[in-house]
Amino acid sequence: MAKKAATKKPSTKTELLARIAATTGLARNRVAAVLEAMAAEIQQSLNNSGVITILGLVKIEKVVVPTCPTWPASIKVTVVPELLPGPDDQCARGLHTYFQSPATNDRGQPVCGLCGEDAIDWERLHKRNIFDAEYTVDQLNTDRWRGKWWSRDIDPKAVQHANRKGPAGIEDAVRQRVFQSVGRVYEMPNGKEQPYRDGSQTTDKVGKMTIIHYGQHATATCCRKCMEVWHGIPQGRELTKREEDYVVGLLLEYVRFKLPTLGKSRLTRNGE
Ligand SMILES: [Zn+2]
Ligand SMILES: [Zn+2]
Repeated sequence: MAKKAATKKPSTKTELLARIAATTGLARNRVAAVLEAMAAEIQQSLNNSGVITILGLVKIEKVVVPTCPTWPASIKVTVVPELLPGPDDQCARGLHTYFQSPATNDRGQPVCGLCGEDAIDWERLHKRNIFDAEYTVDQLNTDRWRGKWWSRDIDPKAVQHANRKGPAGIEDAVRQRVFQSVGRVYEMPNGKEQPYRDGSQTTDKVGKMTIIHYGQHATATCCRKCMEVWHGIPQGRELTKREEDYVVGLLLEYVRFKLPTLGKSRLTRNGE
């Protein structure tokens, strides 16, 4: 017989609200700390029914399907919209915080962690149709963290590197980088097959990045966790040839967008 935990609701809710209010902006580690504090209680409830719901606050359920990468595997956390801080001025301009958002829709896909916006057609993205790249790029640009990588300037060193390579050389380098950083997997101690240090294999340090690193952050191909969320490619195995081609195609879209003269300069020998 499962006992209801209804009597604990007010104090838990108040405590959670206070903590999250104190960290407006929902930094990942802070929200994670809140969840950690709830972990014992959650674990108990999960052992009973597999689901814990604190009405008006949070719904957590045990799932076996791939989950949002920001949260512990096999536990899906849904922060209900009332708990989110609400839109800021960037949300109002269509720039949301899907990246590392604590909130998901009922299919486990991220919604904006501030305003709860859920306007991305994830099923469409997960078809991985390179001829639909325009839609994919538009959606990546509605996330303020991804969008930053589309709008920011490429540092001169990375531009020079790309120019030295030329279009054909860059394409080779993209394919190689995709294979090495996210395509190839190793058996980890936990029994999972993952790229080496998945989640931190793509640097974001100016001076160390090539245009391909910029592109990987922009296109959510920096690690297998991001690729699962944005492109629907499951973790735990090597990329298929078709998936690899798609990822390479997206990265080349980025290179063409940021360095439209890359091909021309090689032909005309203009510039450096
Ligand atoms: Zn928003
Ligand atoms: Zn990533």
